[in-house]
Amino acid sequence: MSTTELDLFVIGAGSGGVRAARMAAQRGARVAVAESAALGGTCVNLGCIPKKLYSYAAHYADDFEQAHGFGWPVQAPAFDWEALKTNRAREITRLNAIYEVLLRDSGAMLLRGHARIVSPNEVEVDGQRFRARYILIATGGHPLMPEVPGGEHAVSSNEMFDLPKFPRRLVVVGGGYIACEMASIFRGLGAQVTQVIRGTQILRGFDDDVATFLAAEMAKKGVQQRFRSHVLRIDRPADGLRIGLHDGQVLEADTVLYATGRGPNTKGLGLEEVGVHLGARGQVDTDAQYRSNLPSIYAVGDVTDKVQLTPVALAEAMVVVDRLFGDVERQMNYEFIPTAVFTHPSVGTVGWTESQARERYGALRTYVSEFKALKHTLSGATERTLMKLVVDDASDRVVGVHMVGADAGEIVQGFAVALKAGATKAVFDATVGIHPTAAEEFVTMREAVVMA
Ligand code: FAD
Ligand code: NDP
Repeated sequence: MSTTELDLFVIGAGSGGVRAARMAAQRGARVAVAESAALGGTCVNLGCIPKKLYSYAAHYADDFEQAHGFGWPVQAPAFDWEALKTNRAREITRLNAIYEVLLRDSGAMLLRGHARIVSPNEVEVDGQRFRARYILIATGGHPLMPEVPGGEHAVSSNEMFDLPKFPRRLVVVGGGYIACEMASIFRGLGAQVTQVIRGTQILRGFDDDVATFLAAEMAKKGVQQRFRSHVLRIDRPADGLRIGLHDGQVLEADTVLYATGRGPNTKGLGLEEVGVHLGARGQVDTDAQYRSNLPSIYAVGDVTDKVQLTPVALAEAMVVVDRLFGDVERQMNYEFIPTAVFTHPSVGTVGWTESQARERYGALRTYVSEFKALKHTLSGATERTLMKLVVDDASDRVVGVHMVGADAGEIVQGFAVALKAGATKAVFDATVGIHPTAAEEFVTMREAVVMA
């Protein structure tokens, strides 16, 4: 067996892996990257990108309906699921090809196949062995499907973008990012959607006002939410699926989606055999610069089970590349990572929730504004927008910006810079708004919420 000598072997050409491979190669390192599926990983093929494209598709339903109020008396044409799937697939194939070009142009060697670590400095791909000074595990994660009788009839988010038939009736189990986004998207596309949520609110971990407000807005759009509800079994009679709930009620559906969290891809990688420590959830445990207990093996992204977001995987990859090939020792700061949930309406958030901030800072001021966006004065829609600022009373620093409403992610991205920079409420107040926008509300809120 021949052995190729490398500086870095990257396992997984997803968000973190491609970034690390390209950047390391551009700095002159000899790099190989192995990928067993499509280039670009979860985000490009089964996550962010197809999800956002489908969210755009779903918004057209509202646009057709709301056009009337603006003098466009159009009737919504029939939605064509096959056309959306075909166009999405074409775009993803284009992106896959771009990833390949980016990797090759950077000088990294691309290997198609399953990689397995065979020693602290060796990786095997399809019988070919590579020796590398460093190995980076960037293998991502997979959907976790709790065991339930008939669970084999359910699908995960991996299948949702390519369902052979559009589900007229969809049951979504879960109340997190994926469950809420998929519920919104398929509702927008015309499905009857029921969300089965085990707890008392969706988006646990988000600000309570945001979660409550979003649940109400999703309900207005027709997503039925069953809280404190559990699926006991799923049966497949001839005419669809029957979902038995803990309270004896039975839901009927064409598709059941489980969106109940994701777990790290660490199986079949040879990690236990070479002695890499795994955490309780099977994740690769690392130090603050992503080094495992073995000094030659690093891990970034979803496989470390920290913050499962593409920009975080990219940022972590850069810390590793800087450390190994740039002589720069730095740590990633996980505070003030902005995030969006592409529900309808969407959520944008950065910083601490009110309850987290209260624990951390003590005395707070919060500013909340809830209003009908200008567009909806004519659109006929009842959709409302929520904006909330959380301010540390002692320092006047704004430590949380939360929004539910159109383009929340686009709006909050900019405010994330302000929070990173340590902007105070006084700075927000001194900032001139852009009129007429929804975003200007963030710089015009003056009355703190009075605590009861
Ligand atoms: P991945 O991108 O998953 O890449 C891992 C790669 O490793 C895969 O291509 C896999 O095939 C490969 N691999 C695994 N094992 C091996 C092996 N042994 N040999 C060779 N190759 C291997 N994040 C956002 O920031 N915004 C969003 O809007 C968003 N939406 C999402 C929507 C959905 C439905 C999902 C599921 C996720 C979403 N995410 C989103 C999360 C985001 O996709 C992930 O956080 C991100 O892709 C993680 O990157 P990664 O590099 O860790 O892993
Ligand atoms: P989340 O952790 O966001 O949500 C999981 C949901 O499933 C929670 O509501 C949880 O309930 C529920 N749940 C967990 N186990 C069970 C069970 N056994 N039975 C019933 N319900 C259960 O995970 P997702 O799968 O939605 O997404 C994974 C990650 O991917 C996200 O955390 C996020 O980091 C990333 N992502 C990011 C997106 C974005 O940036 N827009 C979009 C999609 C994914 P409970 O709250 O009670 O624990």
